[in-house]
Amino acid sequence: MPVKPSINDIAALAKRRGFIFNSSDIYGGYGGIYDYGPYGVELVNNLKKAWWYYMVQIRPDIVGLDSSIFMSPEIWKASGHVDGFSDPLAECKECHTRIRVDHILEDLGVFADEKMSSEEINKLFQENIGKIKCPHCKKCNFTEARKFNLLVKSNLGNFSDNWTETPAYLRGETCQGIYVNYLNVMQSSRVKVPFGIAQIGKAFRNEISPRQFIFRTREFEQMEMQYFTHPDNELEEYEKLRKYRWNFFTKFLGFSEKNIRWHQHENLVFYAKEAYDIEYNFPFGFKELEGVHARGNYDLTQHQKGSGKKLDYLDPITKEHYVPHIIESSIGVGRLVLATLTEAYTTIKDDDGERFVLKLHPLIAPIKVAVFPLLKNKPQLVEKAEELYGRLSKKFMCEYDDNGNIGKRYRRQDEIGTPFCITVDFQSLEDNTVTLRERDTTKQTRILIDEIIHTINMEKWS
Ligand code: ATP
Repeated sequence: MPVKPSINDIAALAKRRGFIFNSSDIYGGYGGIYDYGPYGVELVNNLKKAWWYYMVQIRPDIVGLDSSIFMSPEIWKASGHVDGFSDPLAECKECHTRIRVDHILEDLGVFADEKMSSEEINKLFQENIGKIKCPHCKKCNFTEARKFNLLVKSNLGNFSDNWTETPAYLRGETCQGIYVNYLNVMQSSRVKVPFGIAQIGKAFRNEISPRQFIFRTREFEQMEMQYFTHPDNELEEYEKLRKYRWNFFTKFLGFSEKNIRWHQHENLVFYAKEAYDIEYNFPFGFKELEGVHARGNYDLTQHQKGSGKKLDYLDPITKEHYVPHIIESSIGVGRLVLATLTEAYTTIKDDDGERFVLKLHPLIAPIKVAVFPLLKNKPQLVEKAEELYGRLSKKFMCEYDDNGNIGKRYRRQDEIGTPFCITVDFQSLEDNTVTLRERDTTKQTRILIDEIIHTINMEKWS
């Protein structure tokens, strides 16, 4: 029976093997921000490539975009973020731990609507206070609950002292950059409704209680696709998108269906037509991995009002004018990394004790092939192994390792999820064959060097 890893198991492996570090580590860390190390950046890039392939490359109806992090502050006013993008918070007076009041209430089965004022949230909080304990010191002595805006402010372009009153914001979500480029894209790329615009990029939120490792961070990356539809087709397209996104996890990335599920929003914001999240079974239980939402025409009409520019669509055949409705798919890269590591983390107990294997999809694995000379003090083996590394590394991310015995080298590669290890030994010098060892079966086969690329066959997405 595979044992489910704890979040600490994953964080420890991620640090030990160079996937994820605390930001500013040597200065004691920096709350809610993380850095991706040598294997982490490969994993992230591969996940982003997989998403882009699936959402843009093989979709004739979806195009890409890379909009800026800074945008006109008016955008955040029109989108409702300046006035409404806030989380309710209370602080423990004993140990100063801050808690998300809406999350704590939700755990108690009490729903706090996003649109509630600070006073209304605080009233709900006070009504339930008897059941609430500080997650850290377990005491019940809190400040009042108050709402805090999540947008991160900056002084960009403002050289006066009052920049906090008229700040430029770091974007709180990537999709606003898509909405405000809808006209540009439509006029320049011959797309016709229904069509989508996809983008991957950083977002920043002043999260009150960043937690659970990379699950909730203050700086993160989002992969978002906004799909523009005729109002009458919104829900039909929405169902198609839900199916497509479900298949991304189960068929494309190979996640187990046991570990993901749909969660329907019970209380929709007034403009939304339908909203589901895909939840993943993280080490701390099922939580939101991705949102798939039908948003009506709210976003474009808000920007139409805010900018004074007409954002409607003229159907070239029917000549009908309308503001397209939008369905969206939005996922955080960090959450996908965490889900991928959780899914892949496998503990194996055998005669040598306990060991870990990251059973990553080969196309997602940071390193595809590790090349070892059997012995590092035999120049002929080293020369041949180095030459092989030189050949393979032009095709895939490879690693060369001549340190320690072969068993130890296999283990190290298992922990970073490398699907194939190749050992150059004395027989290789005679007949140009090597041993190819597979991570998941630990099976070793002898193959010709010239057949390696064909045998591991990793040049296309499966
Ligand atoms: P949550 O309820 O968990 O705060 P949300 O509903 O506010 O998330 P959205 O605004 O819909 O999230 O953002 C879309 C996606 O972006 C989420 O499904 C998640 O994967 C990711 N995301 C949002 N906030 C964060 C964060 N602080 N850290 C990491 N990823 C995030």
